[in-house]
Amino acid sequence: MPGTILFGIDVESPDENAAGFIRHGVPLFEDLGVPVTWYVTGATLAAHPDAFREVEAHPLIDLQAHTYDHVIMKAIWMKIPEGKTIHGATDYFFQDCVTPAELDADLERCQRTFQDILGRPARGLTGPWGYYRGLGDRPDLLDLVYRHGFRFLRTFARNETDGQPVPLEWQPFTYAAQGKPDVTELMVHDYQDDFYWEAFNDPVPGVTYADHMMRMVDRVAAEDLVWSTCSHDHGAATKEGFDRKGTWYRAFIEYAREQGVRFLTGSAFHRG
Ligand SMILES: [Zn+2]
Repeated sequence: MPGTILFGIDVESPDENAAGFIRHGVPLFEDLGVPVTWYVTGATLAAHPDAFREVEAHPLIDLQAHTYDHVIMKAIWMKIPEGKTIHGATDYFFQDCVTPAELDADLERCQRTFQDILGRPARGLTGPWGYYRGLGDRPDLLDLVYRHGFRFLRTFARNETDGQPVPLEWQPFTYAAQGKPDVTELMVHDYQDDFYWEAFNDPVPGVTYADHMMRMVDRVAAEDLVWSTCSHDHGAATKEGFDRKGTWYRAFIEYAREQGVRFLTGSAFHRG
């Protein structure tokens, strides 16, 4: 069996990076012919309404949410691997989160923005920064996102050290145990992007992130796994900046298609 890839990209920069990602990303994915999901912050959607309305009409691109203001839903307390400096820390790194009331107000604004600009609410939500165990240990937050209409999530995006990688052994699941069988957790596996792979690994001469991604494809295909993978619009304002990511997007996507791996949007995977 060939396996499944859910490629989701956080389009989260209200500045020219999101505009550049649209300008350079749409033709790339059109050329590759694979479906992808873009998780867009409400602030980014509001900054480029006409451009996103055009993306919305695109059959290969599924637009979903990444909160309004990139608010962190669950605190992150990362144990930094020996000898590494990550987010400026060498032992522990802490990133606080918003209160449930603040999250409630943010998601209200996010859904209103989706409704105003795209004429529909979002059904998928990526939690900024990502968290160990997703919302599995926070039924209060699960209720909250459910009330705002979200039915598929990418909130499980860190391992037990609050770092990376997230092993493929954790496959997507539903929150049935928490009383929400109709909510799917897609996960974000492995590394959230090239920058985290670099931060958590020692460089090996001649080995690129594209090589790493192709080895992931091998395993996904051999074991028929679902791989939810992620990237960001960072640095995409210029073609040169976009191509730093676009080059490895093309490499692993073309390789995966040769292996017979299928690509699905978050919405299509959730629908089953
Ligand atoms: Zn983000």
